[in-house]
Amino acid sequence: MEAYNVPETRPAAPERRTLSYKAYRGLAYSFLAALALACRALALGGAGLDPSLFALRVGLPALGGLVIIAFAADLALRGRRSLISGRSRRVAASAYVFTALASALDAYSGLSPYLFIPGSVVYGLLIWDRPAFLAVSSALSAWAVATAASVCAAGLGVETLSVAAVGVVVALHSAAAVKRSILPSEERMKSLEAENEELWSLSFQDTLTGLYNRRYISQVAIHMFSRAARYKEQLHVLMIDIDHFKRVNDKLGHAVGDEVLKGVAQTIQAAIRTSDTVARYGGEEFIVYMVRSDPETTQFIANRIRDGVAAVQFPGVPWTVTISIGVAGLQDGDTIEGLVDRADRFLYVSKHHGRNRVSGF
Ligand code: GH3
Ligand code: MG
Ligand code: MG
Repeated sequence: MEAYNVPETRPAAPERRTLSYKAYRGLAYSFLAALALACRALALGGAGLDPSLFALRVGLPALGGLVIIAFAADLALRGRRSLISGRSRRVAASAYVFTALASALDAYSGLSPYLFIPGSVVYGLLIWDRPAFLAVSSALSAWAVATAASVCAAGLGVETLSVAAVGVVVALHSAAAVKRSILPSEERMKSLEAENEELWSLSFQDTLTGLYNRRYISQVAIHMFSRAARYKEQLHVLMIDIDHFKRVNDKLGHAVGDEVLKGVAQTIQAAIRTSDTVARYGGEEFIVYMVRSDPETTQFIANRIRDGVAAVQFPGVPWTVTISIGVAGLQDGDTIEGLVDRADRFLYVSKHHGRNRVSGF
């Protein structure tokens, strides 16, 4: 294919520097987790626990809290992508280990192991977009809510609030994660649709003329051909080539050449019927498939296309641009390649007989 037809590659998206909504949410989680840990330290201090145990039981969760904050800061600075980086995963996993250790210690001293909750927040962040882990996340959040409820029931005052806050955050996060994994957000749906449309046009449309490209028409042609062959319907193929197009490029420049190509494409499109399909077949070649069209109508339309192009005064072109057309009709025992080949051969008959003409049948 000619260099002109290569679709432009999309420019890379600029790096995101602003804090995303998710990053703010990550910070909010870590703030709540830190609050829970501070409340816990206060409460344990107030309860007058054994100092050595106290140090361990405040120190470990404090470490976990610090790691959570580091994780959230990382998320805030590097955006959502950091969630899938190995470093973030390691950070989150170590926070999880710290809180698990603290929780084990809680359980050992006969306390409810609610410190696991900040850990599960981190875990929730870690599995943000990983549906495979949703079951674990949901189970953790259910457990967190249950723990919060039991602590409430025991009337543990200041700790109740902190634990309940974290429990609710985990539950909300998990619900959001479930929703995200089941339903793509509206924003995501819109961007998916836009991407699909862009992909569609990149794969099927010619970027210069807006017509179907060769790949698309070749696929559609197979259906038109097999249908016509099976039901013994008429099918005609028009192969169209601009005459002396090189001269346009050489004398007037490629930009003018491109405008001529667009103009010829529009003229062909306007001259055919809605049941006919036109595509850009190569550089300055077009192909038209006409289904259920008898030879007289086909010839009439081919002449209309030829006359239509000759009548256009292309801007910046001081001479008349013409086209040559080759027409072939489906015959018994034809293959699609044979049919197109015949149209192509008739096109060259038109060229050899002086151009600006229609040959075929
Ligand atoms: P003929 O009457 O025998 O068809 O002569 P021609 O000059 O049209 O011959 P040829 O088919 O060799 O030339 C086609 C030219 O079309 C060559 C190529 O540079 C030009 N071309 C192909 N695609 C594009 C395009 O997208 N834009 C422009 N401006 N020129 C193109
Ligand atoms: Mg040509
Ligand atoms: Mg050509």
